[in-house]
Amino acid sequence: MFENMEALEQACMGCQQCRLAADRTNLVFGTGNPHADIMFVGEGPGQQEDLQGKPFVGPSGKLLDKMLAAIDLDRNVNIYIANMVKCRPPQNRDPRPDEEDVCIRWLREQVRLIRPKIIVCLGRVAAQRLIDPNFRVTRQHGEFILRKGVYLMGTYHPSALLRNPANKPAAFDDFLALRAKALEVDAADIDALRADLAKNPPLT
Ligand code: SF4
Repeated sequence: MFENMEALEQACMGCQQCRLAADRTNLVFGTGNPHADIMFVGEGPGQQEDLQGKPFVGPSGKLLDKMLAAIDLDRNVNIYIANMVKCRPPQNRDPRPDEEDVCIRWLREQVRLIRPKIIVCLGRVAAQRLIDPNFRVTRQHGEFILRKGVYLMGTYHPSALLRNPANKPAAFDDFLALRAKALEVDAADIDALRADLAKNPPLT
């Protein structure tokens, strides 16, 4: 258990707990607002991410940033972005289950510290691990499920959208649904606060 994100990042940066440590240039811990209500989770760093030590940079990151901007989200302001594994799998292969099993402790701690209200899984790998082992992006993208007080949703990975731009409209619909869900969650928070204030009026 770590007290804050800085302490967690410092511990994670030296991690050698799986085979992916051997070939990394940089470990890619995550980026964004550690108090964000919305968290995005991808599968693992690619070549550019490994070189720069940041998640979702390069062409797929640019596309993600554009989609985020369209719904008033910004990785430097109001979201947090991380990956299932923090070190680059060779040749951009999928992370292996045993690598995810070891690395997920870092992601769990990130989620525990951030306490997001919504987690968006970018692509099949994250969605199958965090939502449903049989998750099919083409069939289940954009569906929200509530688990332990957190809404989970899976959508297309930006790299997949670059390979198959025909899916961009569907992915953008998912982002619009995300904005609507974020507003709904905010409204529910305000209602809960009002109910609490009604039950426990502040001293005058
Ligand atoms: S992928 Fe995760 S578990 Fe493996 S070395 Fe990197 S940080 Fe550690």
